[in-house]
Amino acid sequence: MHLPIDIDTVKGFLAPEEGEALYQLARDTAALGPALEIGSYCGKSTLYLAAGAAEQGGLVYAVDHHQGSEEHQPGEEYHDQALYRDEDGVMDSFTEFRRTLRRAGLEQHVVPIVAPSARAARHWQTPLGLVFIDGGHSEAAAQTDYRAWAPQVAPGGVLAIHDIFPDPADGGQAPYNIYQRALASGLFEASAMVGTLGCLRRLDL
Ligand code: SAH
Ligand code: MG
Repeated sequence: MHLPIDIDTVKGFLAPEEGEALYQLARDTAALGPALEIGSYCGKSTLYLAAGAAEQGGLVYAVDHHQGSEEHQPGEEYHDQALYRDEDGVMDSFTEFRRTLRRAGLEQHVVPIVAPSARAARHWQTPLGLVFIDGGHSEAAAQTDYRAWAPQVAPGGVLAIHDIFPDPADGGQAPYNIYQRALASGLFEASAMVGTLGCLRRLDL
């Protein structure tokens, strides 16, 4: 895997082996359709996805309202003052996200969609080779992301969900709950678990 910039210079929440898995998935599913992620933040996962997609001339749709999840808000555990606009009273990761893609020279492989996940999905019709869910981690947000995007995965394509913690002592259960929901649907089979990245392949029924 080749990344055009030092990944440690990009803020974010993704382990290197998880990023490498995203890179490979984006590359290997590109022929089935574009990739789409929910939750880009400063572009760390986007960088891996775009680098993989680029190898096949593919494209990544990067959905994020860029206002941060619950844990990014002022006073919360993952708040970053550098991403906060005091004058507007909002979190804004979009400027940093664009900077990451520009530095990496990968802008032509990414279509940013600055909107809440459900709104971005409303008129979506294009089958996707890869859907990567890493947005809000409340139960409601995760279930919405699943309902909106899981049906868009093309047969043979992959649904990848971040922050899977089978043991509640290790972390929140919402991503794990939608992972289980995908398995129970009969539409997906487990294909790999890399760190906390759960990968499911859409069956060709
Ligand atoms: N994938 C990133 C981390 C994502 S953090 C990385 O590799 O570092 C989660 C992101 O989800 C935040 O940027 C937040 O703004 C976004 N988010 C949370 N809820 C969302 C929603 N309903 N719609 C769109 N984006 C959302
Ligand atoms: Mg995550």
